[in-house]
Amino acid sequence: MVHNYSAGPCVLPQEVFEKAAESIRDYNGTGLSIIEMSHRSKDFVEVMDRARALVKELLNVPDGYTVLFLQGGASLGFYTSAINFMKNEGGVGAYVDTGSWSSKAIKEAKLLGDVRVLASSQDQNFNYIPKGYEVPTDVDYVHLTSNNTIFGTQFKSFPESKAPLLCDMSSDIFSKSVDVSKFDLIYAGAQKNMGPAGTTVYIVKDEALGKTGRAIPSMLDLQVHSSKDSMFNTPPVFAVYGSMLTMEWMKKEGGVSEMEKRNEMKAQLLYSEIDRNALFEGTTKAEDRSNMNPTFVLKDEEAHAARFDQMWKNANINGLKGHRSVGGYRASMYNALGIGSVRVLVEVMKELERTA
Ligand code: PMP
Repeated sequence: MVHNYSAGPCVLPQEVFEKAAESIRDYNGTGLSIIEMSHRSKDFVEVMDRARALVKELLNVPDGYTVLFLQGGASLGFYTSAINFMKNEGGVGAYVDTGSWSSKAIKEAKLLGDVRVLASSQDQNFNYIPKGYEVPTDVDYVHLTSNNTIFGTQFKSFPESKAPLLCDMSSDIFSKSVDVSKFDLIYAGAQKNMGPAGTTVYIVKDEALGKTGRAIPSMLDLQVHSSKDSMFNTPPVFAVYGSMLTMEWMKKEGGVSEMEKRNEMKAQLLYSEIDRNALFEGTTKAEDRSNMNPTFVLKDEEAHAARFDQMWKNANINGLKGHRSVGGYRASMYNALGIGSVRVLVEVMKELERTA
């Protein structure tokens, strides 16, 4: 068994792969593959409806919100979120810059209007979540990135905001409970906790849309997609289907609260070893540590890196190399990664120390 610590695309439940493989050959005895049937067929419309309903159920989405499965990745979400919320005249978007992904969101928003950066952790290579800044009311929206996949930081609570709150939750959606009613828009690429790459989920408050006074291209207009039940054009059928299967798995396992419990246990196990083991140290402020993407380094790389890398590879661990902007290691521990895989990694770290 491979212990897959890849940052995304990433580990998904084994039973999702099995069901998906079967449905590629023959979907539910129809004699058709899930990827060759019309997206307007009754069978696929049911998949889309079920996937949208599961998002609502798992995240406890209140009435008055619409769930969409769109294309373009969360990277298009940076622009889509801005264009649907920033006023055409005198538009201002406020951003908390917690590193690469929020920086990219800021870059896209600047194409549309003014951007106010409320706070940034750039001064310390984004190793913490800024706090204590004032949240303005005279802006069109406030944009956050709930979990920074690269630097391994995560908001443990969200700021109160009178302006609409928009959040890129790509790397921690479904990993813990969240109060959706606080947000006017949540968006997330599928390829971490939700399913295969290829679709991006949008959870949008209906009454917040249509207020910018802009002409929005149809494919970026959340109101257009909403009016067509997420079927304005051909949806990414396999990614939506894979997401539906993954959400069914989450539901069967006990839902988001159970995922949260497991994720806390896994994070606790790994972070205590990072803190205990004299050879390693974490790269982020302890209070802002991500439960999804713990990042850490060897204190003396020259002395230990070659052996450690060989040892974890021998233990069938995959994808532990840190992102180039942080270096060291990143252990992405999404929902489908079992605690057994974390035990294997911790054992390798202990063994390195014992034999150093
Ligand atoms: N936001 C976050 C927090 C991410 O982790 C990623 C991708 N890892 C993105 C946005 C970009 O997503 P995509 O590759 O789907 O465009």
